[in-house]
Amino acid sequence: MISNLNVAHSPHDHSRCISAALEQAKHICKSKNLRLTPTRALVLEIIWQGHQPLGAYQIQDTLADLNKKSIAPTTVYRAINFLLSHGLIHKVHSFNAFIGCPFPNSPHSNLFLICENCGNTAEVFDNSLNTILGSFCNRAKFDLKTQSIELSGTCARCKENKNPLIL
Ligand SMILES: [Zn+2]
Ligand SMILES: [Zn+2]
Ligand SMILES: [Zn+2]
Repeated sequence: MISNLNVAHSPHDHSRCISAALEQAKHICKSKNLRLTPTRALVLEIIWQGHQPLGAYQIQDTLADLNKKSIAPTTVYRAINFLLSHGLIHKVHSFNAFIGCPFPNSPHSNLFLICENCGNTAEVFDNSLNTILGSFCNRAKFDLKTQSIELSGTCARCKENKNPLIL
């Protein structure tokens, strides 16, 4: 099992998450000959503001604040689509929002543990889950294209803290 459970759902130095995500993005783009333009990198950094999914409007507002000028929605959507298509971010469908991927270029289950209290969302890969879903789809003669499993509940940190801090 690969996950960022211990990070996303515990207190930690988040600046390290951001720098690791940007480093990985640079590395992946270089190896695939993709252009990580300043806008794409900035949108990725904005999405990595925390471990809570961020909506397109919030991304657009933050980008406009940082650039000190208004930003066209198409600019934001193009950057989001680029990051999505190369696995650097994921869409969290139940929030219609986006979250940074902590392990791009690795096997994926697209399994998300979303805390209803603080919003922090951890991503998990579990091979046995993929095997179960694969054989289930086989039996149903269903061609699986994409999967996204979003579990809602209470994270370990919120369970422990009566007055949890929002990360
Ligand atoms: Zn973090
Ligand atoms: Zn991921
Ligand atoms: Zn929580």
